[in-house]
Amino acid sequence: MHDPSATGGVPPATPTRHDRHGRYPQAGTVEDLRHNLAAVQARIAAACRRAGRDPAGVRLLPVSKTRPEADIRLAYAAGCRMLGENKVQEAQRKWEAMADLPDLRWSVIGHLQTNKARLVARFASEFQALDSLRVAEALERRLQAEGRALDVFVQVNTSGEPSKYGLPPSEVAAFLWALPAFPALRVRGLMTLALFSSEAERVRQCFVLLRTLRDRLRQIVPDGVGLDKLSMGMSGDFEIAVEEGATVVRVGQAIFGARALPDSHYWPGSGASGSQESGGRDA
Ligand SMILES: *Cc1c(COP(=O)(O)O)cnc(C)c1O
Repeated sequence: MHDPSATGGVPPATPTRHDRHGRYPQAGTVEDLRHNLAAVQARIAAACRRAGRDPAGVRLLPVSKTRPEADIRLAYAAGCRMLGENKVQEAQRKWEAMADLPDLRWSVIGHLQTNKARLVARFASEFQALDSLRVAEALERRLQAEGRALDVFVQVNTSGEPSKYGLPPSEVAAFLWALPAFPALRVRGLMTLALFSSEAERVRQCFVLLRTLRDRLRQIVPDGVGLDKLSMGMSGDFEIAVEEGATVVRVGQAIFGARALPDSHYWPGSGASGSQESGGRDA
């Protein structure tokens, strides 16, 4: 997206905001949420302008993990109709508690164990962290049983950190070729988590890698496999992701406020204190 020649070879200096991590003010009212949503949308629009993109091509997915039911209702009142959750059981609990809001849909954005595929098949509208055929098989079987289909993104490990979930880039092509065997999975695109770093250029390289992989694979994927979407960018780095072609950004803390739990609770290797999940890919 960003064309270095257009700025005389100097890359844009958009910084990451990972230094703000854990310091976002808590949103306690519907006005707070409206304000934060508008502020994030304005930053998305500004990043689009820098990259010569149409802001309509970027979907903001608010991430409500750890937020209580009351906050979910505030987000709904502020206009949110799809929310991202990292952990399946937490998402399912919220889905059940919000049964009176049938047009509120759920996107599961975290690693899935096969024994929880049944839950995702029941309530999720989207699953962004597909990275194994075992999970694809389990989802297909459960979706068939429910008579449902699911939009999915294939998660790619673009940072090269061995602890991160997602397929290595070299394995994505073969994986995509196996997916037409699972017709209840509607493949929409690729998803990644960048390196968690204040070094903006290293973060940017993760996003560039996902986009170039998508551009290359789009030419050769089988019929029925869509690769238009790129889900990348979170509170600390979504502007860089938009500059590099993100069509979905997953933003939690900049909308809802800082989380108490360290990120290592959600994905291994993100720097914060020890996690029971470290290293366990499908334990
Ligand atoms: C929590 C989470 C996000 C959002 O992170 P924030 O720092 O709250 O913006 C994005 N993607 C995934 C997979 C997550 O688990």
